Amino acid sequence: MPAKRHALIAGNWKMNGLKNDARLLAGGIANRMAKVKKAPFEVVVCPPTPLIGLVVEIVKGKGVSVGGQDCHANVSGAHTGDTSAALLKSMGCKYTIVGHSERRTDHRETDENVREKAVAAHAAGLTAIICIGETFQEYADGKSEEVNKRQLKSSLPEDSNAKNTVIAYEPVWAIGTGKVATPEQAQEVHALIRNDLAKLIGNHESQKIRILYGGSMKPSNALDLLALPDVDGGLIGGASLEVSDFWKITQAISS
Ligand code: PEP
Repeated sequence: MPAKRHALIAGNWKMNGLKNDARLLAGGIANRMAKVKKAPFEVVVCPPTPLIGLVVEIVKGKGVSVGGQDCHANVSGAHTGDTSAALLKSMGCKYTIVGHSERRTDHRETDENVREKAVAAHAAGLTAIICIGETFQEYADGKSEEVNKRQLKSSLPEDSNAKNTVIAYEPVWAIGTGKVATPEQAQEVHALIRNDLAKLIGNHESQKIRILYGGSMKPSNALDLLALPDVDGGLIGGASLEVSDFWKITQAISS
């Protein structure tokens, strides 16, 4: 019987929303969360970087965590436009996403870059949400297992454990497309990832670490996905931009 893992529902706002949208979205989630006595889930929102300070203030004391969407591998220096993990931490973040497929594509980030960013996140005291997942072509070629194995092994820092790391399995073909992995597909990949984690960080930590599913998760499919034994929550893009949709997904955990 696997250890009971505390579910994590993470909203990745990507490059969406202006200041007032962030106020309404963060406020709406925080107000709902504040009314929950003992939530069987943890909620984290990952706003665009300039809005992090504002969102941290809005959710303060309401049981909602804040995360970055990326961080630089270095602590400081001449890296125009980038944000260090240490700065995210000092702003009040608890998490940061690293290796999202949009960054792997748009910024040509490699597994090695992702690992360095996760190392920086750990050093700053953040929990890294490390994203992995195959493209549609890799999926069609039957290479999903091989790709996820390689990305996991190469993106995961040696010191990773269930406290400083969350894995997000996000099949690229499901992100923002409306296509979603079937519960059978998701469970199969998550179980393989947990099996690989056992080899990389030991059986004990692999049983405790949270593996999120990401890719067109919505209120209509959340119940089936979040009920799976190796799915410990979701990384949600589009549906995290509507308070009611995002909240309905959290409620799939408690039901
Ligand atoms: C994501 O960006 O991590 C994501 C899963 O997006 P969406 O939910 O929109 O597919």
